[in-house]
Amino acid sequence: MKAQCAECRLKDRVCRVEGGRGPEYCPTLHKGDLVREAVEEYGKPDIHAFARMASIQEAECYVEREIQPYVMHPVKPRVQEICEFAQKMGYRRLGIAFCAGLHAEAGVLEEILEAQGFEVVSVVCKVGGTPKEVLGLTEEEKIYRGRFEPMCSPIAQARILADAETDFNILVGLCVGHDSLFFKYSQAPCTVLVAKDRLLGHNPVAALYTTNTYYQRLKRKGF
Ligand code: SF4
Repeated sequence: MKAQCAECRLKDRVCRVEGGRGPEYCPTLHKGDLVREAVEEYGKPDIHAFARMASIQEAECYVEREIQPYVMHPVKPRVQEICEFAQKMGYRRLGIAFCAGLHAEAGVLEEILEAQGFEVVSVVCKVGGTPKEVLGLTEEEKIYRGRFEPMCSPIAQARILADAETDFNILVGLCVGHDSLFFKYSQAPCTVLVAKDRLLGHNPVAALYTTNTYYQRLKRKGF
């Protein structure tokens, strides 16, 4: 049976509570072999170190953890989380793969990373100025019809950052699909600082928060 954790409404979930319960589609109860195989993967030294630091960083995003019972008190924005994780991993050179629509924000990020002691290499999506016609796009399929329009080149972004031997790459606003290609071709591990949402100020979860009110149409097929 396929896993459907997103539909699980149990309070005593077996994945969260010792001795808890799970529904018939529960992967904790029914995909034990896959979970065990996955856990073995963390035995590899490099994966172990990476995952360990990620989990230490996760906890360090909360304060007053000595107070019991604990009530979550997060204190760090994601950009700080990224800096601290990169420091923990001993990374020196960070890559920024950014969307041309967030050029100013990429500049601010570069300033922040440099202030924290990192060397930064940044590459815009339009790097190379390759025309969209290379992908077979017609005038009607472009944003600006009847004139030159460079394609987004996530593979070139990944290659240029690999050539610079970045230790860790940070995505800033790459489009859906372009980000997928960047993940596929990036040599260094990646994280996302900004998930592009042209309408919602790069806060895509706002549409999910409002599907019972202003974005009800998203739950109808075809929108
Ligand atoms: S792992 Fe099982 S208990 Fe946990 S959310 Fe998924 S279905 Fe629910």
